[in-house]
Order: sequence, then structure tokens, then C-alpha cells
Amino acid sequence: MTTLASQVSAQADAALAAVSSLAAADLSVLDEGQLLGLIRTMEKVRRSAESFDNVAIPELEARAVPARYVLRGTSQFVAGLLNLAPGESSIRVRHARELGVRVQLSGERLEPLLPVLAATRAGGLVSARQAAVIIRCLGKLRASSLAVDELAKAEAFLVEQAELFDAATLAGIAKQLLDTLLPDGTLADEQWQQRHRFLSCVPNGEGMHRLTADLDSETAALAHAVLHSLAAPKPAADGERDERTAGQRMHDAFRSVLKLALRSAELPRTAGVPATVLITMTAEQFETGTGLATTSFGQKLSVDQALRMADQASITWVVHNSKGGVLNYGTTQRCATEKQTLALIARDQGCAFPGCTDPPEWTEKHHVVPWSAGGQTDLDNLSLLCDFHHDRIDRHGWRVTMLDGVPWFIPPAWLDPAQAPRRNHRVSPR
Ligand SMILES: [Zn+2]
Repeated sequence: MTTLASQVSAQADAALAAVSSLAAADLSVLDEGQLLGLIRTMEKVRRSAESFDNVAIPELEARAVPARYVLRGTSQFVAGLLNLAPGESSIRVRHARELGVRVQLSGERLEPLLPVLAATRAGGLVSARQAAVIIRCLGKLRASSLAVDELAKAEAFLVEQAELFDAATLAGIAKQLLDTLLPDGTLADEQWQQRHRFLSCVPNGEGMHRLTADLDSETAALAHAVLHSLAAPKPAADGERDERTAGQRMHDAFRSVLKLALRSAELPRTAGVPATVLITMTAEQFETGTGLATTSFGQKLSVDQALRMADQASITWVVHNSKGGVLNYGTTQRCATEKQTLALIARDQGCAFPGCTDPPEWTEKHHVVPWSAGGQTDLDNLSLLCDFHHDRIDRHGWRVTMLDGVPWFIPPAWLDPAQAPRRNHRVSPR
């Protein structure tokens, strides 16, 4: 190793040793002022260390290291090298392209696209999230072909604000700046949105899935219009308060939308059958109601949950033996006919649960005697219920009984010791 090379390596080793030793430091010897000062300094160290990516990644690219290992791109290489999630490495690479030197094919090194932000980041004064806000804002301004000196002014202004405000507040300031500099810049903004629109739903490693998205304005408006009305707390007229958090209500609203989409006849057909969720389980699981069933997407869900879903249209289930042979499968009998559906809508006019005002579009057909327990798909055994109240019946101990051909709801004893049946008075106020 040359002297210079060994110096650089030694610096990194010394930095790691210095930071590591602080992890075992006795902070009780510091007075409060010193303690706060130390915490602030260490935050700078953390941010400054992060900005090392902006030096390292351009160097990797200048040497064409990722290409040598036949990888799709730098992001994939960095993810493998440092064991990062794909999203994490792509953000680092994106930042390095804005904040690192730009190595030309000729070998010439140009200064970073955003030199002020690069220097501030290296000094540890700006966090990664704040940098992301500034990079996005300046990317939009650049796409709108704003003059170079205007761009530089905007960069300096935002960096200054970043030293005063957190990332969320800074995003608001950036938005105001965009509105001021590009009063009619919606086109550039639209193009930017089109390029950056994104949605993913991936396993989170804990049996659930994480939905992440950057929605363009149109999709966001639709999402707000549809989800917010559906996510409103259910009225307490049924004697049970809606105890769900705002996030849980939003989640359930999203589920309702997906169910509506599945019920809709307008969905494109795949492989000659209407769009459907296919659920498989073993005979033993079917009989005992325990264990995990599998969807055609390989997702696991409890057999209990699967059987409840099987009560609904557009969900097909298959019971197989231990060798994989099909013993039984969902038939159309569990789905109400169109005429039955119309009669149900005429009778219930929406969710039949006491106090609920959901219209028919947001309801599904509930079998009073479960279909999996031999309940028939007859009007006398069906009731329209919204997703939320379907769940109330299944999980909270409410029962449904048909009196004179109309569904009545019997509350659980913990809610009403007398268990007096109630009904939705939408149709007739009796
Ligand atoms: Zn309801």
C-alpha cells in the first residue's frame, strides 16, 4: 500500500475506534450542557459518516465495479456489498449522483450537481431525510429548465432552511418555493410525478405485508375520496363504539375497496375465469377449522379466516388430501344469484346491521347459518352486511336470526345481558 492509501485506511479505522469507544463512555461525568453538546456533535458525526456514500459510490462507478460483476446497476451492487434492502441502496445511489463528484467518460471530474448541499451534508449539518426533500425539490426545478443561477439560489435557500427545520416542515417550505418559482409549473410537476409514481406491497417479515406508495395527484385524490368516506368511524347506534384507530379504519376501508373490486363484474378476466382469490387447504384443516390455508399468491391465512372469506363471492376454495388430490371445491351455490341479490337489496337496502348506513355497493352477503356449516344460499339465510359489521358478527359474538323474513341482530351478553334482538330501522321504523 502506498503511504497515501494506508493513511486513508488508517483514518477510517481511527474514526470507527473513536465512535465505538464512545458507546462505552461514562456520560455521568458531563454536566448537562456538555451532555447536550456531545449529543449534538454525535448527530453531526452520524450525518457526516452517511455522506461518505457520496464519495464512495462515484468512485465505484468510475471504476465500473458494479458492471464487472454483471449486476443490473450500482444500487444492486451496493445492496449486496452492504446487505441493504433494495429501496435503501437505491436512495443512497440517487443521493450520491446529486451530491458526489461526476466522473465523465474522459475521466474528468466535475463538481457535484448540488455542491452546497454536498458540503453541508459532509459537515454533518443536514440529515438524509432533509437532503431527500431538497433533492426532490431541486430535481423538479431542474426539470422545469429554471435558470442555473436561480437553481443555485434555491439550493442555498433550502440548505439554510434545513439547518432550522425538520424534514416534514422543510417539505412544506420546498412546496411553497416550487409554487412561487413555477406558478404555472404543473406540467413539469406532472411529468415528475409520472416518473416517480410507485406502489409496492411486500412481506414485512412478520406475516403481514407493507404497502408503500408515492401516489400521483390524481390517484391521491381518488384515494382520499374513496378511503376517507369509508374510513369514517361507524356510528355507535348499535351500542358498540367503533374502537378502531384511524389507521385501522383506513386499513379496513382499503379492504372494502379491494372486495368491491373483486365483486365487480368489470374486472378483466384472467385465464378465462373472473378475477378471483383461490384458497387451498387440506381436508383436515377444513374439518377442524384450524391451521393455515394458502392463497394462489402463496400468502398464508388462517383456515378460520379463509372459511369466512369463502362465504363471499369471487373467492374460490379447494380442499385437497395429503397427496394434493382435490377432495372438494367451492361451488357457485354459495353465491347468491342476481335475482336473489336484487331481492336482498330491496329488503335490506344496504348493511342490515342496526344503525349502519352503508349502501348496498359496500356490502357483502352474509350467510346466517354459515355456508361451511350447511347453510343454504336462500333469501331466508342471507343478509347484506358491510365489511365492518360482517366482522362484528364473526368475531364479537353478535348473532343473526331471521324473524318474519327479516334479519335481526342479537347482541352478545357482555353488551346487553337481556340480549334483545335489534334491527336496522332504515327500511321500516318499527
Ligand atoms: Zn354495517
